[in-house]
Order: sequence, then structure tokens, then C-alpha cells
Amino acid sequence: MQAEIIAVGTELLLGQIIDTNSPKVAQKLAELDINVFYQTTVGDNEPRLIDALQIASERADLIITIGGLGPTVDDLTKQTVAKFLKQELAADEQALKKIIDYHDTTSKPMSENNKLQALYLAAGQSLKNDNGFAVGSFYKNPNGPDVLLLPGPPWELEPMLTNYTVPVLQKEYKNTGMLISRVLRFFGIGESRLATKLADLIDEQSNPTIAPYAKKHEVTLRLTAQADNRESAIKMLDLAEDKIMERVGIYFYGYGDDNSLVKCLANLLIGQQLTISAAESLTAGLFQSTLATFPGISTVFPGGVVTYNPTAKNKLAKVPVDVIDTYGVVSRETAIEMAKGIKERLSTNIAISFTGVASGELEGHKAGMVWIGLAYEDQPVEAYLYQFGQDRQKNRERAVLTGLDLIRR
Ligand code: ATP
Ligand code: MG
Repeated sequence: MQAEIIAVGTELLLGQIIDTNSPKVAQKLAELDINVFYQTTVGDNEPRLIDALQIASERADLIITIGGLGPTVDDLTKQTVAKFLKQELAADEQALKKIIDYHDTTSKPMSENNKLQALYLAAGQSLKNDNGFAVGSFYKNPNGPDVLLLPGPPWELEPMLTNYTVPVLQKEYKNTGMLISRVLRFFGIGESRLATKLADLIDEQSNPTIAPYAKKHEVTLRLTAQADNRESAIKMLDLAEDKIMERVGIYFYGYGDDNSLVKCLANLLIGQQLTISAAESLTAGLFQSTLATFPGISTVFPGGVVTYNPTAKNKLAKVPVDVIDTYGVVSRETAIEMAKGIKERLSTNIAISFTGVASGELEGHKAGMVWIGLAYEDQPVEAYLYQFGQDRQKNRERAVLTGLDLIRR
């Protein structure tokens, strides 16, 4: 099964917008085991779109166009594809009613063009658009490649893809059984080291397949199993996961595409009602800001301080002046005092501190050297030393994620 994606839009060719839709579509197709061999971009121009369709139909089993389903004159994908396939367009009655009702209730004048958005390839099926008027279309072609038409606006395309397109493709192209994926997320290990540790598994396994994928500061593994039924597929995934965990389990932190370290930690803290505070030097609030991305965190996060210079460390986090004078700000002792200080001031169960060198040099230490202090209940306060890289922003981000990971453990 080979697919070609054709992104339609002159603005894409001009570089005015970046094609973010094709990767989304390609990712979904990969999950369905449909290979994308070509991605093409073409302007809003009928003869050139026909050319692109012609070329694609010679080398693909499935052609997917993106964009140009709207009501304006430059939206010509549907008409052009219909012409190319010598197929009729028909109106999706439900979609048409939605368009008419909308213009009635808002008293906006409706043009004939607005109605065009309800059209789909009559011999195929219409795909519902929950966030716009233009329906998508899927046509199973008995004489050539199948054709799928999707809208351009990402907020329309993505839900249509997940909710209405994937099920159709799954049904059409997967008569071989169940395909189930599981995503494992790792922190603290790079993609190449993870891949090396799992090299034989990745090479040997064809079912389930194991695909490593580097995300910012972390790595994910996607396992995809194909079997006759759900239970067998899950059993296969469990087996593969066990083998993986034996080798790299200590870096594993969670499942799922939309998971993250902060989500894991926030759920843990809220679930156990453990309160947390922070004193931040090089991260200057980034840890607390990251925590705050999680809704509901206020029940366990009263606040914290940014203590960028020694005076602030002393005044806001109660770090004794002689500790700073004796050991310096980038030290185990200062990190410990910062965590201790803020924990006392805000009476939280947990406190974390960050002090280090984001870039350049400080107190004779290289960029990337970071101490993270951690205070938990009445246990002795500990501090952990890390050596990250040269990049200022990356060092700050890695410090925050490492802190989240430390607490989670
Ligand atoms: P509309 O009904 O809004 O006209 P449409 O299906 O006709 O939708 P286009 O006119 O091609 O789609 O694009 C509408 C908007 O969607 C573009 O201005 C752009 O912001 C966004 N868009 C289109 N194609 C892409 C793409 N490949 N990647 C990212 N954004 C896109
Ligand atoms: Mg348009």
C-alpha cells in the first residue's frame, strides 16, 4: 500500500505558510502501515493540480489531497479531482443543511459558492467536518488509485482525520486484523543510546514493530502489533514491552502520545495531595511556570521564589550568607539551603531548588553545571549534580525536566 500526499495551496509554494498538515497525515498513515512514498506541493492551479494527480496516479495506490475545499475561487481541488477522475460531485444533505442553517441564523447572505462546500465525490463517501463547512471525501477507485480529499485548515483537518478518516482507512485497508500501537516514553536517555541498547530487538522484530522517535529532551518508542484480535495484539505488545523494560526500564516514565513528565508529576502530586514549592536560580521560574501549565496544580502548588543573585538567595530562600561565601552559589550546599529555605517558608511536603551555570562561566564552573536540591518531608535534604551542554535555553529546560523526573522518582 503506497500513498502520495498532495498539499494544495499557492501560499505553501510561496513559503507564506508551512505545511504542517502533510506530516500529520503521514503520521496517521504510518500507524496504519500505509507507506507514504511521495509528498507533493502544488499551487491553486487547475492544470498543475491535474499534472500532480496524473503523476501521483502512476505511482500511488492512494492519493490524498489537502486543502482547497473551501468556498473561494482559488479552492478548486474538489472540482479538479472530479474532472480528473471523470466523476460526479454530489451534495451531502446534512452538510448542506448545516451551511443553510448557519446563514439563516446569522442572517449572512449565502452564495452558491458556500453550497459547494457540501459537495463530495458522489461515487465515494463524504467525511464529516465538525469544525467547518467543507466536507472531506473518500473514493474507492475501481480503475486506479483511491482518492482522499481533506480540508486545509489544521483545526478542521486534524479532527476529521482522527475521527472520520482513520476508521474508514482502517476498514478499507486492514482486512488482516487488528493493528494496535502503544507509545512508551523515556527521559534521561538519548535516542541513539536507547536504540543501541535495543538494537537487536528493533532489528529482529517485525511484529510488533518497534520505532524509536526523538522528541525534545526525551525519546519515545512506538510499538505496533498486528493480530487477529485485540487480545492477541495486546499480548504481543506486553511481551515486547517486558523485554524493553528489562533493558531501559529505569528511564521509562509513562505511556501515550499526549503524555509528558509534567503531566505525570502533576497527577502524582495532586493524587497524593503532596504540596510542592521551588526556589529557582538559573531556571528563573521556568520550573514553576512549567508546573502551572497543568490545570488543577494550584491545589498542591502554593508558589515559590526566583532567587537569581546571592542577595535574593539569602532574603527569599533563607540561604545563610556564609554558605554562599564559603561554597559559592553553584554548590551542593547552596542548593540544599535553597530547598530547605523555601520548604520552611511555605510549609510544603516537597521543595526543589535549581542553581547552576546556564551559559558562560561562573565561579570557575563550566556552562551546563547544575545542582538540583530536593527536600522531601522530614528526610535529609539531598542535592544532585548534573553536567548539561553549552546551550543556555536547553540547559534551563533540561534542568527543569530533570527536576520533574527527580521528584517523580
Ligand atoms: P477554507 O474553507 O478555509 O478555504 P480549504 O480546505 O479551502 O479551507 P485552503 O483554502 O487551502 O483550505 O487553506 C485554508 C487555510 O488553511 C490556509 O490559509 C492555511 O492557513 C491553512 N492551511 C492550508 N493548507 C495547509 C497546510 N498544508 N499546512 C498548514 N496549514 C494549511
Ligand atoms: Mg480555501
